[in-house]
Amino acid sequence: MESRGLADFDPLTVNPSFDEKTLQPPGSSWLHVATTLVGVVGPILGLIAAMAWSISRGYLDLTQFMIFFVGINLTGMGITIGYHRLLTHRSFETIPAVRAFWTAMGALAVQESPIKWVAAHRKHHALSDRPGDPHSPSLHEPGFFNSLSAFWYSHMGWLFTGHLLTPDYERYAPDLLRDPLIVWFHKTWLFLWFPLAYLLPTVIAWLITGTAEGALLGFLWGGCARVFVVQHAAFTTNSICHLFGSRDYQSHDDSRNNYLCALFSSGEGFHNSHHAFPSSARHGLEWWQFDTSWYVIWMMQKLGLAWNVKLPTAAQKAQKRLR
Ligand SMILES: [Zn+2]
Ligand SMILES: [Zn+2]
Repeated sequence: MESRGLADFDPLTVNPSFDEKTLQPPGSSWLHVATTLVGVVGPILGLIAAMAWSISRGYLDLTQFMIFFVGINLTGMGITIGYHRLLTHRSFETIPAVRAFWTAMGALAVQESPIKWVAAHRKHHALSDRPGDPHSPSLHEPGFFNSLSAFWYSHMGWLFTGHLLTPDYERYAPDLLRDPLIVWFHKTWLFLWFPLAYLLPTVIAWLITGTAEGALLGFLWGGCARVFVVQHAAFTTNSICHLFGSRDYQSHDDSRNNYLCALFSSGEGFHNSHHAFPSSARHGLEWWQFDTSWYVIWMMQKLGLAWNVKLPTAAQKAQKRLR
């Protein structure tokens, strides 16, 4: 099927309401702060335990490595292909089973329900690096410590605020509120998919190794360490990729293309190209820009599982090119 050029403007870039154009994040709650702490600090502690245990054993066996490695790629692309390029930006269309598969993989990445993720991310595009952006590292007073604090805020701090607790679903994700499959993922995320993210690798490791130690290492490597890697791949896109890297295309923000981040985030580090062409299914627009999420979408297209795959035309790229 033929790829097509992008429309002049991205229909998902919603016009924010006046009261959202403020530096002050919406109010949070102690319950949200507590659950977010468990969600993001748990994986860090688990990663430390996983490394300490494996170092004390002197090796990491193939089972644990494969659960860790395959899990990173599947659930990482659940975010990049599923939550981001498919649900947020509608950069391609697919059959319901494939849509459900990538959404399930995204739900196992422990980055909230798909509707919450999409609403927060569309708001980021609507207001990127301007007051009201949920996670800009650029909105701060001058000075080293202010820069450091803004970096922390854009990387993880914003997760604790009302930006994530109470996104405006009606304004930013009305299409998904009308999609029964995605609403089901949204309603079941906390009680089904969040626990499954840890339970599945534990059970898989137990079935393969048949030992309690194997199951526990599956929990630590396939659960905690995997979630840590996939979470921080997304977090660095919000923090580092709005600060460090090249600006190859015109965009209304400080977004950057960062090759190193792209390597660890299945291609999402080409973030300036993404802000310049938000609905493009491909973020690494040059042949030498390694974008594994795009290679998978391209393969799905060749197999007839993806169509209406959006890409910028040569003329659209030339119009915005800066270097
Ligand atoms: Zn961005
Ligand atoms: Zn985006």
